Amino acid sequence: MPSTTSPSLTVLASPSRYVQGKGALDELGAHLAALGRNPLIVADDTVWGLFSQQVTDALAATDLPTTRVGFERFATPEAVDSLVDVIAAGGHDVIVGLGGGSTIDAAKASGHLARIRWASVPTAASSDAPTSSLAVIYTADGEFVEYRFFPRNPDLALIDTRVVANAPVRFLAAGIGDALATWLEARATRRGTADAMAGGRPTRAGTALAELSWDILWENALPALDAVAAHVVTPALEAVVEANTLLSGLGFESGGLAAAHAIHNGLTAAPQTHGLTHGQKVNIGSLAQLILEGAPTAEIEDFIAFTTQVGLPNTLTEIGLSPEDRDEIEAVAEAATVEGETIHAMPFPVTAGQVVDALIATEGISRRVRSERGLPAPELYTGGGH
Ligand SMILES: [Zn+2]
Repeated sequence: MPSTTSPSLTVLASPSRYVQGKGALDELGAHLAALGRNPLIVADDTVWGLFSQQVTDALAATDLPTTRVGFERFATPEAVDSLVDVIAAGGHDVIVGLGGGSTIDAAKASGHLARIRWASVPTAASSDAPTSSLAVIYTADGEFVEYRFFPRNPDLALIDTRVVANAPVRFLAAGIGDALATWLEARATRRGTADAMAGGRPTRAGTALAELSWDILWENALPALDAVAAHVVTPALEAVVEANTLLSGLGFESGGLAAAHAIHNGLTAAPQTHGLTHGQKVNIGSLAQLILEGAPTAEIEDFIAFTTQVGLPNTLTEIGLSPEDRDEIEAVAEAATVEGETIHAMPFPVTAGQVVDALIATEGISRRVRSERGLPAPELYTGGGH
């Protein structure tokens, strides 16, 4: 957790501007022109293959040049440092992370170090990285290294819902998993005494936005997934994109993270989980948190049923582990409870032993609930990342 200047202060952090809608990418030049004259676009080869023409045209419309640099899968310390060099060599004044959460986080971290402005342009609603003032740093293999905190948020977060509608369904499902955790963690942080990620106690606004994200998702997640499967933009999809991107982003940063994301970070220590998306691992963390905090049985069971329908994993087996993998589960629990992890924002002390028990408990509860409610296990997806 970040350090704070005073325990009595509350904080709300947000991007300077958030733009969402069908065709928003065509307006990118107009928004970037307000930030700089020499942008650097960071995008992996797949993303750039899909959007290079549209981005080049959008920038040309406001007489901005298009310069793009490639990106590997994770925001590693080396990837960030190499972007800083590219910024300096090219004299860039604004960096744009175009793609998934790790691309965006690398753009933020390098823009901060190079002291230029930065913008997030996600190509899926797969995580709540785009709006926040922090970056999650991983190893090249996808193991969690650290959170890096910056004194300001992106100058712009822009998301085109037509692009989201044409991205794989599993990306939206992952974003829903990430965003559902936001309320569970903000609620726990509010009950406790720890700071939110923004470096102060949660504002009422931060907590309320986290809850709004949860309410929108329970109402709209399933029809939004249908919309993406059909590659169409509907009001339900617009609502879920806002919940996953803006509300979850503001909600986790100013409402607080707790056990779910700490358990996610612990899970990244198990190589079996490296093919899973961030949101898939977070969902196991959410369920384990509900069990750990002794949430009402009906709430736990409804959460399992709903996230099963969304297509998210709820058992250790579905993330490549098994309740018998005692050593690996203990290693995950140790990593989730190291000093400084957000699990210590829970309103009671949490030990690695409690996390082991909660993780093992997910298997039996989820299997029973699905069987009682006639729900098949979700089709699981591999690939992606934060
Ligand atoms: Zn997350």
